[in-house]
Amino acid sequence: MIASATCDVWIGAAHHDQLLGHLFPGDRDEHGAVLHAGVVRDGDVLRFVVRHIELALPGRDYVKGKIGYRALHPTFIHRQIIQCRNEKLAYLAVHNHDCGDRVAFSTIDLDSHERGYPALLDIGKGIPVGALVFGRDSAQADVWLPGRARCTLGELRVIGQTIRRFYPAPRQTGYADVAFDRQVRMFGVAGQTMLKASKVAVVGLGGVGSLVSEYLARLGVGELILIDPDHIEETNLSRVVGATQRDVRDGLTKTQIAARHAREAAPGISLTEIDGDVARRSVAMQLRSCDYIFLAADSMRARLIVNALAHQYLIPVVQLGAKIRSAANGCLDESMSVVRQVRPGEGCLWCNGFIDTGQLAVEAKTDQERKDQAYGTNEANPSVITLNAVAAAHAVNDFLFDFLALRRPANTPPYTHFHFLKRLIKAVLPRREPQCRECVRRYGMGDAMQLPGFDG
Ligand SMILES: [Zn+2]
Ligand SMILES: [Zn+2]
Repeated sequence: MIASATCDVWIGAAHHDQLLGHLFPGDRDEHGAVLHAGVVRDGDVLRFVVRHIELALPGRDYVKGKIGYRALHPTFIHRQIIQCRNEKLAYLAVHNHDCGDRVAFSTIDLDSHERGYPALLDIGKGIPVGALVFGRDSAQADVWLPGRARCTLGELRVIGQTIRRFYPAPRQTGYADVAFDRQVRMFGVAGQTMLKASKVAVVGLGGVGSLVSEYLARLGVGELILIDPDHIEETNLSRVVGATQRDVRDGLTKTQIAARHAREAAPGISLTEIDGDVARRSVAMQLRSCDYIFLAADSMRARLIVNALAHQYLIPVVQLGAKIRSAANGCLDESMSVVRQVRPGEGCLWCNGFIDTGQLAVEAKTDQERKDQAYGTNEANPSVITLNAVAAAHAVNDFLFDFLALRRPANTPPYTHFHFLKRLIKAVLPRREPQCRECVRRYGMGDAMQLPGFDG
């Protein structure tokens, strides 16, 4: 049995728009729906990520109640719970109350849960069942877990370009450390509190990731997960922040260096250091309950796995890096930085051709196989700190404005490509393939689907 007294519910922005349009059409009446949601259990975290919404048709699926005012029709409930059971997703019934930033279940609502949910748990055979009630700017939950533990809502989070949060009642803002005074003047104590409560992963701690890690630590992010399997080398010193000659001599890992640097910048920070490859499933699994992921590793496998995490767990992700290419005559051909925001349901790195399957196959080979087949002479790629800094600063800046909801809500963030030779910044809207095996098939499945990657 899970001890957690609260759970969080995360929903994609397009789904949230659709749901609120249905619940609040302007008639001030009550409406209903059912959410099918992936379950995420990681340590103390219990999170539901919405995969599918079934709107209840007034008069057919949402009808006059025998005891309460309105109720979902038993046939509708039965069809939904069976679908959820078959996909191993949680069943969450939704209705609305005509109120604003404060909402609670009525006694009649709670009595109906007491009467109905034990039987639904039996039918569900192991899936959580429960209810959400929405106000226009608030939400509350009563979720029943197998074993009869119950939990209320911690936070409802809407994942679009902008991340929006809803609670049962307005939250009290506390106090921010004086070290953050200058930035609190921009985004307030509430913003600083959100940063402190957040868990952010940085995958890849080379030239780009080491900068991202430093920025996040100084901004006051409470918990960082740092992932990189590599040791620092002499040729990294031109761009990995915090790295020294001595670290090269001592054979430190890039993760160790980033962690030391983050701790110096922010003594109270909580750090998880993983000197491993995110393509290992055991490593990727540790990212399931993150609030945000920065992908600064250049392998295609890392892209495939982190892209899957974004859609399966509705985690906002940004892929960032720099690319420099020279022609045979030595002239610079291309010199660019990229910041590609990935949001669940809004197109993915796979749909948009940024995961090269040929390269994926090469990366899946062992070192010996690569040698035997004369793959990749391992010619080093050019890399320069200033290009990395453009990508890192832009991506962390987007994180601030989106994660703290400092700008107008939007659902689809564009990819930003900086072409330095042409002095050009391009915003490219991502495509979404309707049958994508990654962003569509995995969407909101949570723990019910295995992540890609190799075992161990
Ligand atoms: Zn109610
Ligand atoms: Zn896709």
